[in-house]
Amino acid sequence: MQNPDAKSDHNRLRIKHICKQQVNEEDAKNTSKPNSQNRLFPRKPRGSFTKYRSLVAYFFLILFFAIPFLAINGNPVLLFDVEDRQLFIAGKHFYPQDFFILTLAAIIFLMSIIIFTIAFGRVFCGWMCPQTIMMENVFRKIEYSIEGDRLQQIKLNQQNWDLEKISKKGLKWTVFFMVSLTLSIFTSLYFLDFRKVFTIINDAPFDHPTYFATIFLLAGVIYYVFSFLREKVCTLVCPYGILQGIVINRDTMNVFYDYKIGENRSPWNKSEDRKAAGKGNCIDCKQCVTVCPMGIDIRNGQQLECIHCTACIDACDEVMDKAGLPKGLIRYSSEKEIETQQHIPFIKTKKTSVTLLIALQFLLLFIVSNDNSVEARLVKPDGTSFFFRDDKIINSYHYTIINKSDAKKITLKVLDPSYGEVTSSGSKNIILNKDDITKGTINIRFPRKNITLSKQNIRIGIFDDRGILLSSVETYFEGPFKLLNLN
Ligand code: SF4
Ligand code: SF4
Repeated sequence: MQNPDAKSDHNRLRIKHICKQQVNEEDAKNTSKPNSQNRLFPRKPRGSFTKYRSLVAYFFLILFFAIPFLAINGNPVLLFDVEDRQLFIAGKHFYPQDFFILTLAAIIFLMSIIIFTIAFGRVFCGWMCPQTIMMENVFRKIEYSIEGDRLQQIKLNQQNWDLEKISKKGLKWTVFFMVSLTLSIFTSLYFLDFRKVFTIINDAPFDHPTYFATIFLLAGVIYYVFSFLREKVCTLVCPYGILQGIVINRDTMNVFYDYKIGENRSPWNKSEDRKAAGKGNCIDCKQCVTVCPMGIDIRNGQQLECIHCTACIDACDEVMDKAGLPKGLIRYSSEKEIETQQHIPFIKTKKTSVTLLIALQFLLLFIVSNDNSVEARLVKPDGTSFFFRDDKIINSYHYTIINKSDAKKITLKVLDPSYGEVTSSGSKNIILNKDDITKGTINIRFPRKNITLSKQNIRIGIFDDRGILLSSVETYFEGPFKLLNLN
């Protein structure tokens, strides 16, 4: 077993090395932005949070590339079909007529985001946001592998345009553009069926100028965002950071620097008893600053720029570990926890939010999945009322039926009052293509003797080819005025 003293000495040496390195780095004094540069050069993060975050990112990346090819009951999992003005979510088919359901779903989704932010701060930004995932796990990793870590990147940026700089920058920009183009093509698969996209790509570019122009334009935007705009997207473009500032409270979970333990900060001195000297655990090594992709110093308190990327937690934990000090100087915590130095059990502060979140997700699921498998609308043609034939009173209706079920044929029957009949000029069955809208005209008739009101509500049932009731719709039926003697 390793001697603890030897281990501690080794760690102290490593810390000394880190501090010395920092002192020598003129650019590491304040942020990950060197004074002479107009961009950030964050150090490559490493540690357990980084590892878990990478795993989550890879999971979402695989999902992003796979979803356009996945289907549920033959329908795309997610497709905003702009050409045919239809939408598929989780295999469910939505038309512009479903605007109400979609608006309701969007409101519930927005409420969920707000409640989630109140409870968990910007966890979404650090772990799930496409911008962070692409920036930190795709583009930044390519950059590290071509240009090296922070110091090599700064050096490369400051040196003249020699062969090394031209080749490294040229390679990076080429790879960046190829990745941007790939992302652009895969993004298009969320707006056009992948079979259509494959056909388009196989054709000559001039056969589909709009598609190719859009793809290259989008690739250009992606390239610009991840090559130059980078962290500014989070602070200047995305409204979520501003929302965070409005909704968080003292119980919100965030990445915090524990100033009560960290201050009075002061450089590491291996022969010193920091506690006796009245010094805090922060050794002012600025590793948390140089690793930050947003260029902020978490020790200055919670800032809107912080995207919860956890890089500073890992950086500080590594330093604490080597210094033999307790980890967690920077950690997920809440303002109240830091202030009181008391651990507040998760369930105590988050139970209302988590309960609400779960309830909202069930409501969302219910609204989307309870969407009637077949929807029908019956409208009386303008200017029509009723007519008589064979001792029956007849009303005509225009119908619109949206079939979201598996039924290929449906039958309409009068449910209430039960003595009515539905007739149509053609077959008794209405033929429905799956996920299609069918329109036509039907007649509904009642025996004369049963209609005693000039206007009454009726209910029509929609049955599939096995006779199962799929849905029902209400409308009104007109008959002769009550005082009219028909017999
Ligand atoms: S301060 Fe925020 S954005 Fe910067 S490294 Fe820490 S968690 Fe990431
Ligand atoms: S908070 Fe941690 S990483 Fe940041 S300067 Fe202090 S000791 Fe170094």
